[in-house]
Amino acid sequence: MDNKNLSLDNNLSDVPGLGPVLVESLRSISLNSIRDLLYYVPRRYEDYSNLLKINQLNPGLVSLKLTINQLSTKYVRRGLHITEALASDETGTVRLVWFNQPYRAKSIKKSEPYFVSGKFELSSSRFAIMNPAMELVSDFPISTNRIIPVYRIGKNISMRQIRHAIRAVFKNNVIIDETLPSSIVVREKIISLKDALYSIHFPENILALDKARYRLGFEEVFALSLASSKNKDILKASHSKIIEFDVDLAKRFVGSLPFKLTDSQRKIIWQIYLDLAKDLPMNRLVEGDVGSGKTVVALMSSLMVVKGGWQVVFMAPTEVLARQHFNTITNLLQALNLSNKVALLVGSQSAKQKSQIKKQILDKELLIIVGTHALLENDVVIDSLALVIVDEQHRFGVKQRKILQLKSGSMPHLLSLSATPIPRSLALTLFGELSISRLIEKPKQRLPIVTKIVVDNDLDQVYKQMQSEMDQGRQIFVVCPLITESESYKRSDVDSVYKKLSTEIFSKNNLGYLHGKMKANEKNDVMNDFINKKLDLIVSTTVIEVGVDVPNATIMLIYNADHFGLAQIHQLRGRVGRGKNQGYCFLTGDKTILKNERIQQLETLDDGFKLAEVDLRLRGPGALYGISQHGALDLRFADLNDTQLILKARKSADDFIDSKESLLEYRELNNKVNYLSRISSLN
Ligand code: ADP
Ligand code: MG
Repeated sequence: MDNKNLSLDNNLSDVPGLGPVLVESLRSISLNSIRDLLYYVPRRYEDYSNLLKINQLNPGLVSLKLTINQLSTKYVRRGLHITEALASDETGTVRLVWFNQPYRAKSIKKSEPYFVSGKFELSSSRFAIMNPAMELVSDFPISTNRIIPVYRIGKNISMRQIRHAIRAVFKNNVIIDETLPSSIVVREKIISLKDALYSIHFPENILALDKARYRLGFEEVFALSLASSKNKDILKASHSKIIEFDVDLAKRFVGSLPFKLTDSQRKIIWQIYLDLAKDLPMNRLVEGDVGSGKTVVALMSSLMVVKGGWQVVFMAPTEVLARQHFNTITNLLQALNLSNKVALLVGSQSAKQKSQIKKQILDKELLIIVGTHALLENDVVIDSLALVIVDEQHRFGVKQRKILQLKSGSMPHLLSLSATPIPRSLALTLFGELSISRLIEKPKQRLPIVTKIVVDNDLDQVYKQMQSEMDQGRQIFVVCPLITESESYKRSDVDSVYKKLSTEIFSKNNLGYLHGKMKANEKNDVMNDFINKKLDLIVSTTVIEVGVDVPNATIMLIYNADHFGLAQIHQLRGRVGRGKNQGYCFLTGDKTILKNERIQQLETLDDGFKLAEVDLRLRGPGALYGISQHGALDLRFADLNDTQLILKARKSADDFIDSKESLLEYRELNNKVNYLSRISSLN
């Protein structure tokens, strides 16, 4: 064995004590380097740190120090081996039982002390510790006598193997350099990275675990804050087109609308006009609940750009939505004779069609270009681009923005529209570079959607109501968490539900289905059939979530509702009741759903922002739709409810920037910040 020092960048195969088989198994769960492994965070912990004596045992998880007196293995029947041991300490004797682990008998040494941890419970009317883990006291215990890390395992790798691998790494001297500036480590009294990585896997006690989590969370937020500042600087250093405000045009447009703008809409449009009038790139997010009227805000922003002779790109997450926006926008611009300036550019158009549109874009005949990501393709030249509008999609970051900047020679203003709010604490602390406007008012006419939780067994009643709505010519969305049946998840899937509903329940109606694995034009066809009422009902995954407007749809039925985030369900149900008829949303699941306090919120709360805050509190940021997809917020350690931590880390980042120390001195941190700045998508 050579004794050279290992670093986080070494491959796991370089670690003495890790055999090639184990290295291969680790690779099966994408753990290749020492860094990968040490950052493989336990999902939870089991506390076996409290050593008991046999005469203190109570049913439950227990941990003892024992010697084995007797050991036997018997073959009970096909597929069942039982290994039993009698073990003792100074206070008595206890039975240990293992099922199907005949190797136990061979590996156990009598008379040597062991740590034994497992569940003490009744088995065949006698108490025993069932399937316990055992480790020699003389060894470094990883499954007994401590707070035990519990990892996500894979088909080809067991819990024991992962723990063993991490222990093997720590048995070697791995150089883990401090990543944070030492002044901060000292001032904030946080533990070193090396100690933190050790304690996150093998904490001595709960306090050590808390300190490790705090340290690692601090670093995440610190890096994110630096990335956010960096992006702000990039924006500050670049220039955008100055868009002048034309009062007369604004008035004419408002006068031509079929409705009166809400005060909230007016206020935000005004903010946007002020932003656009500067040569500093706008970076504004408009958050507004489903149906709050974000599209018209975006359109009014575009109006001034077009008036100045510049171009606007309006990006939607799906083709269906892009088409819908295209129609809405051309309609609303008719009164001003500007409809002919609007282009639709999407993947499913024919090559000939596309090239003609591209030419018109090049010639500046078309100024508002509506489409999907296809718009970013290299051969679309939009050289007078001044404003990018991104609807309901968070994956639009600096990188994409730069692509567009290259196309036009200046940094476009950016306006993002979203129905999924960023909780305020987060927005204030982590997205310093982002201006946020909230559309707090909703246009009045719409009736609130009636939301009801029903258990699977009571679905017949719901089916009756669905039938009756369809008989009256209305339409229905059914949403499932999965596309096809899965062995690992017992959840409803589009395939089975579609089959059941179309053959057994609603065999007289026209049903369709929709999911993300279908080709774009297949999805378009289904969606168009639905919009044109050729279909009465579609069974779908959450692909229908964003923005689609079918005023005739009145019922949504969501299977396994407890698997969705609240803000996500809120967006989903926003698809129904958009016309003049009452909309209904039925949430179904197994019996437990009736007691699910989280889901119950949906029956009474009709505010996407409040619902998102509830989810943030109860399930953490991962559950917030949109935010969970938000790469930069893929935090492993930081608890975003921990305002204290966020404020401190944010403050440290500001201080670091003020200190004029160079980030380049901190290679690891610098890499992280660069990475985050690239993927950070809200700027
Ligand atoms: P979202 O914010 O979910 O994107 P939309 O922009 O699609 O909402 O608007 C939803 C509907 O409300 C559209 O039919 C739109 O024409 C209408 N709408 C927008 N603003 C108003 C308003 N001030 N008064 C009445 N209806 C409005
Ligand atoms: Mg919308």
